[in-house]
Amino acid sequence: MRKIILVVVAVTVIITAFYAYKKLAFAAYDIVDVLNIVDQSVTQEELLEQLEFLASEDMGGRPTGTIETGPSEESIVVTTYLVDKLKSLPGLKPAGTDNSPLQNFQIKAMVGENYKFTPTTKEGEILSELDCPWCNRYETGAILSTADSRNVAFYIEGSELPNEYVILMAHYDHIGLGKTGRSPQHAGTVHPGAEDNASGTSALLEVAETFSDLYQSNIRPKRSIVFLFAGAEEKGLLGAVYYAHKFPLSGKVVAVISNDMVGRGLDNTSLWLTATPKGEETPERIPEIWNYIQKWSVFFNFTIESPPDEMNVFYRSDHYAFFSASPENDRIPAMLFSAKWDMDKFNAYKEESRKIRSKEKASVDPDKRFYYHTIWDTIYDEHGNLNIKLDRLERHAEFITLIAFETASGPRPDYVEQLKDLQKTKRLP
Ligand SMILES: [Zn+2]
Repeated sequence: MRKIILVVVAVTVIITAFYAYKKLAFAAYDIVDVLNIVDQSVTQEELLEQLEFLASEDMGGRPTGTIETGPSEESIVVTTYLVDKLKSLPGLKPAGTDNSPLQNFQIKAMVGENYKFTPTTKEGEILSELDCPWCNRYETGAILSTADSRNVAFYIEGSELPNEYVILMAHYDHIGLGKTGRSPQHAGTVHPGAEDNASGTSALLEVAETFSDLYQSNIRPKRSIVFLFAGAEEKGLLGAVYYAHKFPLSGKVVAVISNDMVGRGLDNTSLWLTATPKGEETPERIPEIWNYIQKWSVFFNFTIESPPDEMNVFYRSDHYAFFSASPENDRIPAMLFSAKWDMDKFNAYKEESRKIRSKEKASVDPDKRFYYHTIWDTIYDEHGNLNIKLDRLERHAEFITLIAFETASGPRPDYVEQLKDLQKTKRLP
């Protein structure tokens, strides 16, 4: 009997020591080690290979299926590709429905009262009431679109606060044959969506791989990090809305970092950041995270700017679904990174496409072409030169890896306190 007790005690001591060691080994990290692994893990070759697959003619512009037709064939191929790449990475666990990497959803995008946008499940459950600055164009109750699609999600468990999550995300879908695109004369032609958002998807794959490499070197952030590849963004942020309201893991999301159109932009360095309805206030609203963003933007040679407020960027990408899903007294910081647009070129192109719509004489000469939701959103131009700046995309993937790592390891941002006066002045939804 005494022998058995001794064995039990010895085993308990060994197990306790092992877990204490494991915790210690994971808890402390040297940022130089992190940087070295980040530097080795993210490669331009892999970024390009992934881009070429996602934005290929075969992917047909990655359309989202409708409730009537079921998920599109292309979305099944793309999500299978993402799952295959991610499931073999050590340390990554599935973060979709029922312990799988997928989360299926069927949603109607409807217009609610008071210019709200109300994504509603096929069964009639209103998931969210999003502020919709452009919903005044539609009548209450109008159905804008329906979507049958899926999210892909994995996570890496945090070393100290595994039930708190930082979500790193990118939408993988695009507008298919461009019926809702900006060049009506090209409806029916594949809109490859290389920048929107094969760029963010490819970057996020590299980031997930990097966190797996860090894990294999016993380096983990304190909180867990989710890698979310969302569907149906182009139908109204629907995949993100679904994930935010039907979060499949137990615990709490504390911050969201979304990446949408991050490989092209006006130049090689300027980067838009949006995290509040009034963009230029972002730094003061997220002081803890802003510290990291400032530091690493200098290191990776990015200049952080706000998109023009009149573009309503805050309401137009997936991060807003998470902001909106968090209760007013427990808001979470939800950030969007996007390469800065050439606004002169965009406005000139917008004017030309307006003329085409109204059958006025218009010629979109090559100088006026813009890539946003057009057939010119390709990896290569007609001369075979790269449209996507691989060096920029590489730095972006490295940059957000560091931001996510530190956000997940640092103090929890007190966003409610930061937003208090914003709510008082009723500038918030
Ligand atoms: Zn996008």
